[in-house]
Order: sequence, then structure tokens, then C-alpha cells
Amino acid sequence: MPVLCSSCGDKRAVLKRPKTGHSLCKECFFWAFEEEVHQTIVAAELFKHGETVGIAASGGKDSTVLAHVMKLLNERYNYGLELMLLSVDEGITGYRDDSLETVKRNQQQYELPLKIVSYEELYGWTMDAIVKQVGLKNNCTFCGVFRRQALDRGAIMLKVDKICTGHNADDVAETVLMNVLRGDIARLRRCTAISTTSEGEGVVPRCKPLKYAYEKEIVLYAYFKKLDYFSTECIYSPNAYRGYARTFLKDLESIRPSSIMDVIHSGENLSVREGVKMPVQGTCTRCGYISSQALCKSCVLLEGLNRGLPKLGIGKHHRLHDKILSQQPLTEKEERKLKSVDF
Ligand code: SF4
Ligand code: ZN
Repeated sequence: MPVLCSSCGDKRAVLKRPKTGHSLCKECFFWAFEEEVHQTIVAAELFKHGETVGIAASGGKDSTVLAHVMKLLNERYNYGLELMLLSVDEGITGYRDDSLETVKRNQQQYELPLKIVSYEELYGWTMDAIVKQVGLKNNCTFCGVFRRQALDRGAIMLKVDKICTGHNADDVAETVLMNVLRGDIARLRRCTAISTTSEGEGVVPRCKPLKYAYEKEIVLYAYFKKLDYFSTECIYSPNAYRGYARTFLKDLESIRPSSIMDVIHSGENLSVREGVKMPVQGTCTRCGYISSQALCKSCVLLEGLNRGLPKLGIGKHHRLHDKILSQQPLTEKEERKLKSVDF
């Protein structure tokens, strides 16, 4: 006998919601998913009427669902937002070029303006070229740091008030775990925040409307809505550490689905003891972006690439930043340490 939807009691259930275990029909699942995102947006007051919002769009399932739901809720609840798509082209042949084609189709489907900023135009380096120099071990450090700044620069070009990203509950829980494992208290404190205010010149506030949406439900939503998204993994994706955290979390989830929310709640409720030293934010003396050091991470990584010393931005070499800033020559030993021999 077919199972009936536990919400409407009328249509046939086609899925069991991973988050609640309820058997639902397609329409009731769509409604429940969209309403939860709406509740998240309203409860955290993520947007103000009249704001221009850039949706960070990669062509992947999360950002495609985000763009779809943001457009739908903006119309359904009259948020009064002007929405735009903002994409970063890291310069990864066979991956990003294809996923950007998906974003371009999404632009047509959702009738939203699109801006693409590329690493090549911003930094003079594509990820393809970076991987050639640094190999496949620390490439995601370069990519992550460059992407953060690239999104801000794109957002400023588009004159948006806010950027929203497709980070989902699984991503947030993973990041909590990783920051606990690394003992990174400053990041641990920040990583569960649903929105950030501008931390300074050149930094656009960000928010995560899908913060409480389970990855499994995002996949189901995209599948049943037949959304056009790109599902291939990055060809340079070694990120082993995040991979382990992800697998661990998935194992926990299979035993207890609430584990994802439990980890997020733990992260949200942690309080940092008085007197724990936090980095003081200033600005980069070279590019003006926020930084707790004289040079921001992006400028250090770039300097390393341009000088053929790619390890400069990996690990702690703050003493050497001052030397580089004042253009003092490095000793042979220092140079050797920063070359890519043991990448
Ligand atoms: Fe960049 Fe690494 Fe993500 Fe690939 S997996 S897009 S290299 S951060
Ligand atoms: Zn800088």
C-alpha cells in the first residue's frame, strides 16, 4: 500500500525527509524546505527591504538551490531585494569552465544579472598555473584565500550590499569540527555565525540562508525540482583534512541524523574564556584588505608565487614578511625553506 504524505494526508509520499524522518509528497517537501529557509532569513533578519544582494554562484547544487529559493522567496514574501549572481573563475580547466557554463544557463533561467571575476584578472595567476608551481598539497589554501577576496572585489564592482553564500548545515558542522581539531579558537567563534558585518574597508557583509538546510535535502530539492546544476568535483580537490571531518560527520549522521544540528548548536553555544588572545584586525599595508598582519594572506601568497617561493604563505613566516616588505634580501637558508622542494 502506498504511504500517504504525513503533511497533506492526500498525495503519495515520495521521500522521507532526512532532517525529520517525515514521509512527504513532493509539494509538501518543497513547501517545508522553502519555509524553513524563509524562517531562517526572517529570524536572523538577514536582509533589509531594498538591499542589493549578490548570490555567490558556482553552478554547484548548493548555490543553484540558493539562487532558486532566494528568487522564489523574494517574490513570495516581497523581500524587496535586487538579486544578482556573482561567480569566481579560479581558472581550473575541465572543472570551473564547465561549471560556469551552468551558471550562465542559470542566469538565463532566473533572469538575474551575472558578474564573473577571475583569478587571472585579479592576481595574474590561474589555479592551473598555481598547481603547476605548488603541486597538489596546499593548492586549496591559495584557492580559498584568493576566493574570499575575489568575492569581495566582485561584490564591490557590482555595488551589492551583501553577499549570500550556499553554505549548508553540513558545511557549517564540518567547519566547527575542523576548527576544534585545529584548536583555532578565533575561527571557531566566528564560523557558526549566520551573518558577518563588514569587518572593514573592502569587506562586504556575508550571510548563509541555507545554514540549517541539510545537504541531503538540498540534493533532494534540486533533484525533484529538476534544477540545472553541475555536480563534478574539482580536479584539484585533495583537501584531505576536510574530507576526514566530512566522512566522520556522515558516519555520525547515519546513526543519528540530528548530529549535524547538534554539532552546529555546540559551536554556537561555546563561549571563549576571558583573556584568550584573539588576532587584532588591521589592514594590509599593500592592498588595503583586512589583515591581522602587516601583509594580508592573499598578498603573502601572491608574493610567494611571484618570487618562486610558494611556501611563504604556508605556515608561519611572519618574521619574513617584514623582511620582504622592506625589500631586504633573504638568506640562502630562508630561500631554501620557502621553495617547493617538500610540497
Ligand atoms: Fe579550489 Fe581546492 Fe576547491 Fe578546487 S577543491 S576549487 S582547488 S579550494
Ligand atoms: Zn593584501
